[in-house]
Amino acid sequence: MVTRRPNIVIAISIVLASAILAIAVWVLAQMRDDALRRAQDSVFNVSLLIERDVSRNLEIYDLSLRAVIDGLKQPGVLDLDPALRQMVLFDGSASAKDLGSLLVVDEAGNIRFDSQANPPRKINVADRDYFKVQRDSPNVGLYLSHPFIPKVTGKDVSIALSRRISKPDGSFGGVVVGTMRLTYFRSLFAGMNLGSGGSMALMLTDGTMLMRRPYDPKIIGIGLAGTANYSRFLTQPSGDFFGTAAIDGVERWYAFRHIDMYPLILDVALSTRDIYVEWRHRAWIIGSLIAALDLTIIALALLFSQQLRHRRAAEEELRMLARTDGLTGLNNRRTFEEEVDAEWRRAQRNGWALSMLLIDVDNFKGFNDLYGHSAGDDALVTVARSISQNVRRPGDTAARYGGEEFAVLLPDTDAAGAAHIAEKIRAAIHARELRHVASSHHVLTVSVGVATTNGHAFATSRALINAADEALYEAKDAGRNRVMGYRATVHTHARKAAVTPGH
Ligand code: GH3
Ligand code: MG
Ligand code: MG
Repeated sequence: MVTRRPNIVIAISIVLASAILAIAVWVLAQMRDDALRRAQDSVFNVSLLIERDVSRNLEIYDLSLRAVIDGLKQPGVLDLDPALRQMVLFDGSASAKDLGSLLVVDEAGNIRFDSQANPPRKINVADRDYFKVQRDSPNVGLYLSHPFIPKVTGKDVSIALSRRISKPDGSFGGVVVGTMRLTYFRSLFAGMNLGSGGSMALMLTDGTMLMRRPYDPKIIGIGLAGTANYSRFLTQPSGDFFGTAAIDGVERWYAFRHIDMYPLILDVALSTRDIYVEWRHRAWIIGSLIAALDLTIIALALLFSQQLRHRRAAEEELRMLARTDGLTGLNNRRTFEEEVDAEWRRAQRNGWALSMLLIDVDNFKGFNDLYGHSAGDDALVTVARSISQNVRRPGDTAARYGGEEFAVLLPDTDAAGAAHIAEKIRAAIHARELRHVASSHHVLTVSVGVATTNGHAFATSRALINAADEALYEAKDAGRNRVMGYRATVHTHARKAAVTPGH
C-alpha cells in the first residue's frame, strides 16, 4: 500500500507542491504578458488619436495659408477696401483658440497684411527660419518652423507654418505665415489618460522638442538628436520598444509614429512601473498564498510520514514482541512451533534430516529457592545466551519453550551433528560456573534430549518433540548435566526403570 510508505508520501507532496508552483508561475507569466499587451494597445491608441488630431489641425491651417495665397492672386483683391480685404484674405479658421496671427509678409520681411491688426503691426520677420527657408528655396512647400516667441505678441512659444508667395515671374514675393501656440499640444496631451509615469512628446524630425508631457518649459526647443530613443524613432515610420528616456531616466514602453506628411515625430510611452504595478501587487498576493499552500502541503506530508514511521516502528516492535520471549530475547513457543511445522514439512518433502533439542535446567527449583527468583531469571538469560551462541547456522531456531526449558530446531542435521551441538551447549553452560550449591555438580547445569527424524522415523512433528522429551527425561534420570539421544527401542523401559527408583 502506497500510503504506508513515508518517503512516497513526502515525494507525492513535493510533486504536488511543485505542480501548484509551476501552475502559479505560468499563470503569473501570462498575467504579466497580458499587462504588457494592454499597455501596448493603450499607447498605440493614444498615439493614433493624437496623430489624427494634429494632422487634421495642421491640414486645416495649411488650407487657410493656401486660401490667402489664392486670395492674393485674385485680381482686384489688393485694391479692395482694407476692411473688406481682411475678410476676403483671412477666413475664420485663423481665429481658433491656439492659432495666432496669419501674416502676409513681403520679400523684405515686413508685414503687409495681418489677420489680427489693420493696419498691420510694424514688424520685420526676415530673420525667422520660416521666412529664410522659403526665400532661399522655391520648392519647400509647407514649412514648419522651430519654436519661437512671436514678435507681434511677445509671449506664448509657438511654431509657424509658412508658404512661399511667388511673383508672376517665379521670383520670391514673400511668405504667408501662420503661428500656432504650443499650448495646443500641451492641452491635447493633457487630455489623454497615461498613468503617473507616462510620457508623450512631439518633436520635429531633426529632434527639436516641441512639447512634452510631463510639461517642463525648459525642455521646449532642446535637441534630442543623438539620444538612443530618437535614433530608434528615425528607423521606421512607426514602431514600439522598451527604452529609457534621456530626459528623466525612466524606463518605458514606447510607441512612436511620424505624423503623416509633416516633419513631426510623436511618441507615447507608459512607464514599466505603471504597466506592471497592478500585476506586481497581484503576484505578491498569489505568490504568498501559493508559497503558504506549498509549505502547508509539505509540512503536512512530513507530519504524516513521521506518524507513519512511528506507526511502522510500533507495529514492527509489536510483531517482534509477539514472536519473542521477553526475558531472554529468544523466539517464544508459538513462533517455535510455527517454525517446527514449516521445517517438518520441508524435511518430509525432501527426505532431509531434522533434529530437535530440548534443554532443561537442572534442579532449577532449588536454584530459585537458594538464590531468589531474580537471580533465577538472570541465570535463564545466561543459559539462553549460551544456547544462541552455539546455534549459529542460518535456519537453526532456538526458543524458550517453557519456564526453564529451551528448544532448538536444527534442519538438515543428523543425529550425530545434533548430539555435537547439544554437547557444546551443555558444556558452555557448565563452563559458566554459575554457583549452585544444592546441585551435585555445584554449578548450574542443563540436561539435553536429542531426537532426529530421518525420512519416516516419526509420524508427526509432535512425535519428534515427544521423542526429544523422552530423551531429556532419560538424561535427567541418568544423573543430569548430560546429553541423551532418543533410542526408540529402549526408551520406554529405560524411562520406567528410571522413574521408579526416583520416587
Ligand atoms: P529438574 O532438574 O528435574 O529439572 O529439576 P527442576 O527443579 O529444574 O524441575 P522443576 O520443573 O520442578 O522446576 C522448574 C522450576 O523452574 C520451577 C520454577 O520455580 C522455575 N522457573 C520456571 N520458570 C521460571 C522463570 O521464568 N524464572 C525463574 N526464576 N524461575 C522459573
Ligand atoms: Mg522443567
Ligand atoms: Mg528443570
